[in-house]
Amino acid sequence: MDFELSEEQRMFQDSARKIAEKHIRPELESHDRNRPLPKEAMLRMFQIFAREGLTAPRLPVELGGSGMRMLDYGVVFEQLPPVIANALLSFEVTVTRIGLGSEEEQRRRLLPDLIAGRKICCTGTTEPDIGSDARGVKTRVHADGDDLVINGRKMWVTNASISDLMVVTCSAGTDSSGRNLLQRVVAERAVSPYETREIETIGLRQGHLTEILFDNCRVPKHNALGSAGDAARMLTTTWNGNRPLLGLMAVGMAQRALDAAIGYAGMRRQFGRLIGSTQLVQERLADIATAVETSRLICYKALAEIDLGRRANGLSAMAKRYATTTCLQAVSLAMELHGAMGLSVELGLEELFRDARMLLVPDGTNEILALIVGRELTGIGAFRG
Ligand SMILES: Cc1cc2nc3c(=O)[nH]c(=O)nc-3n(C[C@H](O)[C@H](O)[C@H](O)COP(=O)(O)OP(=O)(O)OC[C@H]3O[C@@H](n4cnc5c(N)ncnc54)[C@H](O)[C@@H]3O)c2cc1C
Repeated sequence: MDFELSEEQRMFQDSARKIAEKHIRPELESHDRNRPLPKEAMLRMFQIFAREGLTAPRLPVELGGSGMRMLDYGVVFEQLPPVIANALLSFEVTVTRIGLGSEEEQRRRLLPDLIAGRKICCTGTTEPDIGSDARGVKTRVHADGDDLVINGRKMWVTNASISDLMVVTCSAGTDSSGRNLLQRVVAERAVSPYETREIETIGLRQGHLTEILFDNCRVPKHNALGSAGDAARMLTTTWNGNRPLLGLMAVGMAQRALDAAIGYAGMRRQFGRLIGSTQLVQERLADIATAVETSRLICYKALAEIDLGRRANGLSAMAKRYATTTCLQAVSLAMELHGAMGLSVELGLEELFRDARMLLVPDGTNEILALIVGRELTGIGAFRG
């Protein structure tokens, strides 16, 4: 067992920090912190990620990706500002979903512009009536001549309003036992237009969470990926990778909150002494630091399991649930330690808190993640009544 990052991982970490400081934060700061970023700004950042191999980190080299180990990717990912990390996650997991289980012709046609960061993509699964129970997707796809026709609504889809291309999780009917057959269909916006509406939320406000309407949206048949019925497996496998990454987003936020809290404890004086010299403030700092350290370790462990070729269903769910919950508490404690200053917009902790609150929902709410862990422990599924 080795708890040290390798020299290569330290280099990845360092270079991600530099990119975040030199390119990403200045871009974010040059725009309204409460409004979705313009598409051109997002493209500029995706092109930077493209140069670093981050637009296709999980896709094997032979399929056109950079084939990074998940743990290495996680070490990099943790350093990125949350709003852009969330956008990158939606982007690159969609590239993975197109790259795996598709035809070579589809990869050649669809992937180069995405991997180069010239086009933006996303995956639409959630619907107004279908959230945690993703297998119940109602958006229908049916064949009509040389086309497929999509009808339905998607909700809460990251990047959709600025997307050029969406992998739409559709229902292609039912199998002989009445099970919903989920099918992945790529809608390219230029040829298969879809309507989008931005949804305002508590956090990640420079990002794009979107509602989408598919109204008789015609897609060429060659844009169906894999086979009817394989979408659920693809989603599950990729969610297992996403969950510890979302956990590491929370770790990155809690680390920033910890750094701010240590700094403030070492300069703020009350009752004639530094607040950092009081036992209760030191206990607060110990709680925040423990949350950061334990969350980071469990997320790294889940990613390392995936690198070993394991599904890591339970561990990934555990990692996201634990890290997002404890890091939200850690950011809140850091705010408390700053007194009124912690509530100021100027300091930035309130933005971290709002952003961290967003992470408890995507790719499995905490309740659903607990059920995944419970199923692994008992062998009994407790999802349905
Ligand atoms: C930042 C962000 C990014 C997102 N990005 C995307 C994206 O790119 N693409 C996409 O398709 N979707 C995306 N989503 C949507 C997200 O995946 C869903 O919101 C999530 O799956 C939960 O669905 P829901 O909101 O409909 O809640 P629901 O499923 O309606 O759940 C409501 C509440 O009921 C609880 N609950 C449900 N079932 C059970 C049960 N069996 N036992 C106990 N409790 C239960 C839930 O935990 C929750 O508290 C994103 C959401 C957010 C916040």
